[in-house]
Amino acid sequence: MQRRDFMKKMGAGAALGAGLLTSAGSAVAARKRLNWKMVTTWPPNFPIFQQGVERFAKEVRVMSGGQLSINVFAGGELIPPLQTFDAVSQGTVEMGHGAAYYWAGKIPAAQFFTAVPFGMTAQGMNAWLYGGGGLDLWHEVYAPYNVVAFPMGNTGVQMGGWFRKKIAGLADLKGLKMRIPGLGGKVIAKAGVNPVLMAGGEIYTALERGTIDATEWVGPYHDLRLGLHRAAKFYYYPGWQEPGPTLEITINKKAWEGLPRGLQLIVKTAAAASNLWMLSEFEARNVEALRELRDKHGVEVLEFPAEMLRELRVLTNETLAELGAKDAVFKKVHEAYDAFRAGNDAWNAVSEAAYARALKG
Ligand code: CA
Repeated sequence: MQRRDFMKKMGAGAALGAGLLTSAGSAVAARKRLNWKMVTTWPPNFPIFQQGVERFAKEVRVMSGGQLSINVFAGGELIPPLQTFDAVSQGTVEMGHGAAYYWAGKIPAAQFFTAVPFGMTAQGMNAWLYGGGGLDLWHEVYAPYNVVAFPMGNTGVQMGGWFRKKIAGLADLKGLKMRIPGLGGKVIAKAGVNPVLMAGGEIYTALERGTIDATEWVGPYHDLRLGLHRAAKFYYYPGWQEPGPTLEITINKKAWEGLPRGLQLIVKTAAAASNLWMLSEFEARNVEALRELRDKHGVEVLEFPAEMLRELRVLTNETLAELGAKDAVFKKVHEAYDAFRAGNDAWNAVSEAAYARALKG
């Protein structure tokens, strides 16, 4: 009797023990805690951009119940800002945040996933990337580098920039030294501008001292913080050079593929939420900043002459065709972008643009 009880207890105990082990074992496997590193191209505490990335990391940690912990490093804290893509590609870190057009030297086609002059706005970019096949094409372009990317942030339409003198037409641009990076710089060089590359921190002093005659930066909120209104008086719109740049989260492909599906979904969802959060922050903060620049600092906010914009658009098409002739991937993405954009323009003409006109009348 005693022995039978003992055996029964042992059996039950063994079964219970085995059960515990099995469930504990699979729970450990499924809930293995991951500590990832994420580097960005932004200065520490850079408003909206770096803030947004830190917010994203916190949301992923909370949503995953602490399973995926992302340690965020601003540009230069772990690696130089412009080595972000390579660090993700090589797996030195699992994640990065920046803008695809920073990698134009390595991947010219990447520029279409951020912004091209006279290209699509944030609304068009989101439509193309999420709903028009753009994201699949982006993944295809990044695949040889073992990088997966998703949209994560947008500045909205930028401003054309700060000028120390008034601009009446294309002829007034000739001979100007202007801080304007990327494709915008290539296009405006055709109009006789000397485009200068310069980090954010150097712009104010260069403009104030007259080392440069003009600069573009972001939009009212960031430009106000940089104090550019104290160095130049004329603030031109629209930002033809960057009509709604999409920012990106990059993820090492092997690390991404190793994530359980639930965590992949959390990362994708948090990146999409961040995409919306950053754009919304820009749109809201720009309202206040533009008012302050106009009303408090007496900045002259002026529209670029229509004829000059038409001419810059022609120069843009020339520039894009030249780049396409040199690079097959660029040409392929350009064609897909333009095909989507033609439809988007036609729809926009009877929706957003028509509505904007209705408000004017
Ligand atoms: Ca800009």
